[in-house]
Amino acid sequence: MSANPEWIHPCRPCGACCSTFRVSFAHAELNSVWGEVPTDLTEPLTPSRSAMRGTNCATPRCVALDGAVGGFTTCTIHLTRPSPCREFNAAGEDGEPNERCDQARTKWGLAPLTAADWAR
Ligand code: SF4
Ligand code: SF4
Repeated sequence: MSANPEWIHPCRPCGACCSTFRVSFAHAELNSVWGEVPTDLTEPLTPSRSAMRGTNCATPRCVALDGAVGGFTTCTIHLTRPSPCREFNAAGEDGEPNERCDQARTKWGLAPLTAADWAR
């Protein structure tokens, strides 16, 4: 139970990584193949890999992201998101740094997360 009832996960008022990087993964993760990622939200990238639509361009924004970066955001396919998203922890989560989280937040004018963001 949280000591601070107003604490929310730092990714909710962020969404920066979903609007910074290309999100690519093996075709096998698609729900039209063997996986769960909704195929209609993806595009083919190579003969063996797909990308989340909206992320394979100079100004990425994943089609599955709802909300404004730095506001209140939600991954609309959270339970069926692809492996790169499942494996991308926010900086400081479980005590581990993540320079790419810091990089994405900085790009969007958000300060890198600190221990204070994890104080529940
Ligand atoms: S950039 Fe970091 S804090 Fe922001 S949504 Fe991604 S993982 Fe979470
Ligand atoms: S699938 Fe969800 S977690 Fe992954 S980039 Fe898109 S919005 Fe972000």
